Amino acid sequence: MRILDLTLFELINSIENGDIIWEDVIDAYFERIKKYDEEVRAYITINEKIKNERHNNGILKGIPIAIKDNICTKGLRTTCGSKILENYIPPYDATVIKKLKEAGAVIIGKTNMDEFAMGSSTENSAFFISRNPWDKTRVPGGSSGGSAIAVIMKEAVAALGSDTGGSIRCPASFCGIVGLKPTYGLVSRFGLIAFANSLEQIGPMTRDVRDCAFLLNIIAGYDEMDGTSINRPNEDYLKYLNKDIKGMRIGIPKEFFGEGTDENVIKEIWKSIHILENLGVKYEETSLPMVKYALPAYYLIAMSEASSNLARYDGIRYGVRIDEEGMDWSTAFSYNRKLFGKEVKRRIILGAFALSAGFYEEYYVKALKIRTLIRKDFERAFKEFDVLITPTMPITAFKIGEKIHDPLAMYMIDIDTIPVNLAGLPAISIPCGFSNGLPVGLQIIAPPLMEGKIFSIAKKLEEELNLRMWEKL
Ligand code: GLN
Repeated sequence: MRILDLTLFELINSIENGDIIWEDVIDAYFERIKKYDEEVRAYITINEKIKNERHNNGILKGIPIAIKDNICTKGLRTTCGSKILENYIPPYDATVIKKLKEAGAVIIGKTNMDEFAMGSSTENSAFFISRNPWDKTRVPGGSSGGSAIAVIMKEAVAALGSDTGGSIRCPASFCGIVGLKPTYGLVSRFGLIAFANSLEQIGPMTRDVRDCAFLLNIIAGYDEMDGTSINRPNEDYLKYLNKDIKGMRIGIPKEFFGEGTDENVIKEIWKSIHILENLGVKYEETSLPMVKYALPAYYLIAMSEASSNLARYDGIRYGVRIDEEGMDWSTAFSYNRKLFGKEVKRRIILGAFALSAGFYEEYYVKALKIRTLIRKDFERAFKEFDVLITPTMPITAFKIGEKIHDPLAMYMIDIDTIPVNLAGLPAISIPCGFSNGLPVGLQIIAPPLMEGKIFSIAKKLEEELNLRMWEKL
């Protein structure tokens, strides 16, 4: 049991000291998966091969990491949660996977997700739903739901997810783990199956803040294969963990505590703000008036990008190839397009509409203008504050089936995460307490490339709260 309770950092130390051997780590994790995965269903594919694979002796010591199933893994099926890629075996590794492997990680499995990362509950997976380990009648959040479950259920030490509008932070919040959406351009997107390129980033999903900084050290950095990658020297994020936070200024934007936000969530967030206050941090309430338009702007931009990205699934370039004799292109095309799930179809249609002649200026261009105004709101706030603190999600994990037939209700819950993606900022979700037995996530948002500030504050808060939630499961 003890092996499973160790964080990534603790596990590496134990292996280095010779207290634990690699074979026992691998056995413990596979045993755990065998015992519990059927109940919660974190994985689409479990990579049994690693039991016999030699691992290199890099800093990660052959430790098993789980990967969201929209990140390409060479020779290992990558479905993106979709029937259309059900049998896709990538011929290459995403840059983040290459980096993880070079650092000595092994990929233990590919995790369940909403199809093409479209959703906030993992209910849009084409294969099966996943369950929140704290209450199995509830969703784990999404779209990186499987990754969050794997980490909190101790079916992997840590995981990677992707975040276009909250997909790392939402399940992190609902499951009680740490999830970081890095600054846009900090982590290479090469090998991430595209949903909305201008918004998404790959990021770490871990049990604690130190593991998060540690994994970011490994996956961040310039990559010439990603045209939006930022070219700058690498940083050591671990050095921010012990920084004094006295005198730091925190903004509390009132729009993130508005109508629809659960009272208990608000209470837990304020408890943490007061803990930080006792540590010498100064806080002040503030306002970001333009974020009230974030939701429509996000969904217009994300759907427009999705409709153009998903055009490649035509049965010729990608998708299911039909080799039947006499099958013409249009039959193959429509066969493939029918494989998309309901939510994906909805977005392709709405995105195509928003981009069509006559509506382009009225919808898409307007959404881009709002995006600029939101970015300016944040810029203004960061002249006064080091970071902003908000709830990650306005609510805790909801019941399976509760929102899936009401897309607008599902979209609404992204209200606190989406502005961050529109502005390209870094933001973390860390567990800060429970409400009726369900984890509550606190979000810390920083200016571009200021992940360091996030880690300094998150680490101090985590120490004070001392929750170690995974040990409770
Ligand atoms: N829930 C949001 C959406 O459905 C965000 C998804 C994501 O971040 N990939 O678009």
